Amino acid sequence: MNNHLYVPPGSVVGVLGSGQLGRMFTLAARRMGYRVHTFSPDEDTPTGQVADVEVVASYDDLDAVRRFAGETRVVTFEFENVPAPTAAAAAERAPVRPEGSVLHTTQQRIREKAFLRANGLPHVPYLEVRSFGELRAALAELGTPAVLKSAAFGYDGKGQAKIASADEAESAWREVGSAECVLEAFVDFEREISVVAARSADGSCVTYAPSDNTHARHILDVSVSPSTISERLHRESAEIARAVLEKLGVAGVLCTEFFVTRDGRLLINELAPRPHNSGHLTIDACLTSQFEQQLRAVCGLPLGAVDMLRPAAMANLLGDQWENGEPNWARACAIPGVKLHLYGKLEARRGRKMGHLTALGETPEAARELVLEARHALLER
Ligand code: AMP
Repeated sequence: MNNHLYVPPGSVVGVLGSGQLGRMFTLAARRMGYRVHTFSPDEDTPTGQVADVEVVASYDDLDAVRRFAGETRVVTFEFENVPAPTAAAAAERAPVRPEGSVLHTTQQRIREKAFLRANGLPHVPYLEVRSFGELRAALAELGTPAVLKSAAFGYDGKGQAKIASADEAESAWREVGSAECVLEAFVDFEREISVVAARSADGSCVTYAPSDNTHARHILDVSVSPSTISERLHRESAEIARAVLEKLGVAGVLCTEFFVTRDGRLLINELAPRPHNSGHLTIDACLTSQFEQQLRAVCGLPLGAVDMLRPAAMANLLGDQWENGEPNWARACAIPGVKLHLYGKLEARRGRKMGHLTALGETPEAARELVLEARHALLER
């Protein structure tokens, strides 16, 4: 990789993927004068609606990928399940950032965990499982409760099953239905936090304040930042996040999700080599958003300041919000300090991320209360 790549404003940046992360990246890029081309199999997408060019083709159409990359100065991605051959084909025509090797490590749980283990980064105890017999043996070693997760394409709780006792092993194996899995010890955590960090190719690195995250049905529900964890955990989470980016050699943005155990330890749950849902509040709350940071990192611009203007909270808007008709946007927007973000998705389905609300407050708790009040107001008739 050319470490001194500099892609100035006015250049074309390519985005593999076309969801909301690409959309918010594109909005940041266009504000700074870049042009954006997006590539995905879908049409009229959240990213495509705001990009200069929307290329619609299969990720397996490697000639189309090469043509797409050939028209850009640098390519990044907005979701981590871009197939490895797709990233490799793009890399024939333009630098891909973060590099395909980062995708390779983080898009498969066994590789991701092996990376954490090899680099002495704190993670949830786990064992690799490739057959029902191995699952039985792993359960005997790790004990219950435990969580079985498929190695591939896991996010938002998909492809996982909790195993409360050994007699649930068979149903969990059937449910996860994957030949390659990891069995993790179940962590009785005190809370979940995440740290979004950015690193440029020259090695400089910035970390955002950690967020406190709560999930509903395995999907992120609310993030509040800064987290109310201790100063020590603030410091340690930032150090670990920075180490992850350095050891992986990331040029871009990466989010490290942690469990905070009841005895005050940090265990990495997952890595996402891109801006993260828990970092959406940086758009309204920080001097430089996670999306602008991704742009700066992949284009070789200096990273921006991550100062937080005020404590902030983000609440996701899932398709469920539409179940009883169009949400009452005016009521939520009438609340001072509340900002609405919608992703332009054409169909509101249950569990689908349609948008989010951000609220700023005097304290993290005040911001949290405000964003929940605003989300509740959407249901008023
Ligand atoms: P994941 O897709 O692996 O991030 O899991 C989604 C959510 O499931 C996490 O954010 C946790 O709330 C829960 N979860 C996953 N793994 C574990 C574990 N080993 N122990 C306890 N809770 C877990």
